[in-house]
Amino acid sequence: MIVTTFEAKCSNCSETSFFPELGDFAYGDFIFYGEGGSAFGYFSAHGNSAWAVIEALIPASGTGNQSGAKHEQLIQAACAAMADPISNQTLSNRRRCPHCGSMSFEYWSGAQGQKMDVRQVEHVRFLALSREAQKKALNAYIATL
Ligand SMILES: [Zn+2]
Repeated sequence: MIVTTFEAKCSNCSETSFFPELGDFAYGDFIFYGEGGSAFGYFSAHGNSAWAVIEALIPASGTGNQSGAKHEQLIQAACAAMADPISNQTLSNRRRCPHCGSMSFEYWSGAQGQKMDVRQVEHVRFLALSREAQKKALNAYIATL
């Protein structure tokens, strides 16, 4: 998947880096980020079996639009955490500075960088687990939040 990158400045170390961005129109499609800040994955929730399993295992809490959005964010974060690593990096749905590991950025300059070929996120490892083991892995992850 060829994705446009945009420049962002780390508010911790002030280094600028380019990150792939899908834009607002890509509903249900996400970029996941490696914990080292230098690996990226493309994830589409549409018809994705890992999303379906994780959605079924994470119960919605509360009612209304607000909690619906939170629930979806949690599923998204869990889909990243349960994914197969890319370039030996565990994935997250939050971008990380490749220089210092910070997750806070000062601005989005909007400056476009080179297009990047982002590989598809896979859940081979997670989907091969028993339902019980999947539940355990998810609960362990949620406990760290
Ligand atoms: Zn930094």
